[in-house]
Amino acid sequence: MRADFNVPLEEGKVRDDARIRAVVPTIENLLSRGAALVLASHLGRPKGEAVPGLKMDPVADRLGELLGKPVRKLDRVFGPEVSKAVDEMKSGEILLLENLRFEKGEESNDRDFARQLAEPVDLFVSDAFGTAHRAHASTAGVAEFIPAVAGLLMKKEIEELSRCLENPQRPLTAILGGAKVSDKINVMRRFLQLTDHLLVGGGMANTFLAARGYSLGQSFYEQDLLETAQSIINESEKSGCRLILPDDLVVTRELKPGSESEVMAPQDISGDWKAVDIGPETVKSFGRYISTSAMIIWNGPLGVFETPPFDEGTRLTAREVASSNAYSVVGGGDLVAALEALDLAGKVDFISTGGGATLEFWEGKELPGIKVLQDKT
Ligand code: ADP
Ligand code: MG
Repeated sequence: MRADFNVPLEEGKVRDDARIRAVVPTIENLLSRGAALVLASHLGRPKGEAVPGLKMDPVADRLGELLGKPVRKLDRVFGPEVSKAVDEMKSGEILLLENLRFEKGEESNDRDFARQLAEPVDLFVSDAFGTAHRAHASTAGVAEFIPAVAGLLMKKEIEELSRCLENPQRPLTAILGGAKVSDKINVMRRFLQLTDHLLVGGGMANTFLAARGYSLGQSFYEQDLLETAQSIINESEKSGCRLILPDDLVVTRELKPGSESEVMAPQDISGDWKAVDIGPETVKSFGRYISTSAMIIWNGPLGVFETPPFDEGTRLTAREVASSNAYSVVGGGDLVAALEALDLAGKVDFISTGGGATLEFWEGKELPGIKVLQDKT
């Protein structure tokens, strides 16, 4: 089973085990059905080298605690030692392989490496939705050699993320934030076709406001994306979707916790002020769309949430989403981290474990790690 155990470590221990907990139901399901379970994941970016600080041992320890049973950890990814250990396994036992990205063949999706990975096992279960947008040996390549099926987390992700694409309840509102337009052009275009309202905040809203001709002082925006932003504005006018930009912004001269700030309309921002969050009027206007929606999809924070109080726009908007009757689906690494820090993650209907994978799914791309699954439909 391919899991996404790419967890943050601190002093040799797992600091946040959310990704491990997310696949426990699949693990328990497989064990209860008599499987001998070989688990594998990547951790960090070792780039094909064995990096001691990125070994999987802390994951094995934490998983063992969560399951209440031993998880045997091997120091290899493939080869005779792995084959022997797997051959000796009994039904109900669990084994965790070493970090897949210690091997160069993983990210290059080397066919021979994929074959060796598949060699000791009978069936491939993919539960690593967060890595499904990568065609790696352990996410896609192995499926050439053994039958590949979705795990419970993978299934849930596909079902939840498909809802808004295949069976949207309307009004359907998308909220898009985060730093860059360039990361999210395709998903924006897709949302213009799909949704009734598209609310834009965060650094990416600055790029749209700059495209409208506001100078915005020292605010972050993408100079080379102004034409793209303008063409998205033009497309929105022809689509059935209303593109909503901030009416006011929280500005500061210095980005540090608790620094002095003001609220300004986009046309008033000049000099060394920079826009770092959506303002109260924008929170209200976003709130009106949110409260009358039947379905909400949200990616990206609406301000520099890492530096309070510039998490306020994200926090108040999250509260609107939480208290609305709409079915809400949230994705994106930073937004999810923000909602967790604000203790609001439990208040939305579904939180995707994917970042890039979620965006590509919403773009309508077929993800390589899903494409290979026999039960994908
Ligand atoms: P996600 O991971 O949820 O998809 P992104 O990675 O696209 O989100 O963007 C997250 C980053 O955007 C955060 O680090 C946040 O500080 C930054 N950001 C949000 N608003 C602004 C802004 N007004 N100016 C600069 N950076 C911003
Ligand atoms: Mg991010």
